[in-house]
Amino acid sequence: MTKTTVLILLGPPGAGKGTQARMLEETFGLVQLSTGDLLRAAVAAGTEAGKAAKAAMDSGGLVSDEIVLAILRDRMAEPDTSRGVILDGFPRTAGQAAALDELLASQGMRIGAAISLEVDDAAMVERVSGRYTCAACGEGYHDSFKQPAVDGVCDKCGATGFKRRADDNAETVGARLAAYHEQTAPLITYYDGQGALRRVDAMGDIGRIAKDLAAIVESVAA
Ligand code: ADP
Ligand code: ADP
Ligand code: ZN
Repeated sequence: MTKTTVLILLGPPGAGKGTQARMLEETFGLVQLSTGDLLRAAVAAGTEAGKAAKAAMDSGGLVSDEIVLAILRDRMAEPDTSRGVILDGFPRTAGQAAALDELLASQGMRIGAAISLEVDDAAMVERVSGRYTCAACGEGYHDSFKQPAVDGVCDKCGATGFKRRADDNAETVGARLAAYHEQTAPLITYYDGQGALRRVDAMGDIGRIAKDLAAIVESVAA
């Protein structure tokens, strides 16, 4: 593994970006960088960026490139990212992709792989509606597809508090899927043109998908 592996996880809401990013973090010592998590933290902290982002997030639209890029640049400036990063939910627009190319070039880094998690839209409503996370460590769970081994107790940290996202409802997920197809899916072609695109069938078992991703990361780092 080189010090500067940069992976991008592309996929609609519910595709499994967060689930897989956390597994790659553990396996390869990379750092997960989720712009959704960073934006939710900004909203919770009541920062100016958080206040400006909230309405778009609640309605299922995208937050402005300006706000997202400022948050991303701040996070990339922290020293732990030099171990390599998994970008989860970023970039989501052509403008963000171009800004990322510039940022990486200025730091002597490059994209190892942009991995498209390929899923059926129809299944994403159920994935998103059943999603919840551990309030203490952030581990992701699902009402039907990924339950803790002991009911009500986090497998990872033993905590018993869980939370659901305000935007994880059937109404908002339609808008989020539309935003994905209009603004983010074109990046698949963009990264294909750069020779960085890898496609993974993300409809099956979580463990099988993790193996496919690990094989890609190993080939990129080799
Ligand atoms: P994203 O970060 O792409 O929005 P998540 O990783 O949060 O997606 O996954 C969405 C929900 O679907 C979570 O509740 C997660 O536990 C569940 N999930 C993730 N991958 C799979 C899979 N391969 N099969 C079934 N459910 C999955
Ligand atoms: P999901 O896991 O369902 O794909 P995220 O947690 O990545 O959702 O994002 C939640 C919301 O935060 C998005 O619907 C959008 O409003 C905002 N957001 C996250 N990342 C970005 C980004 N890169 N550009 C614009 N908006 C973003
Ligand atoms: Zn936990």
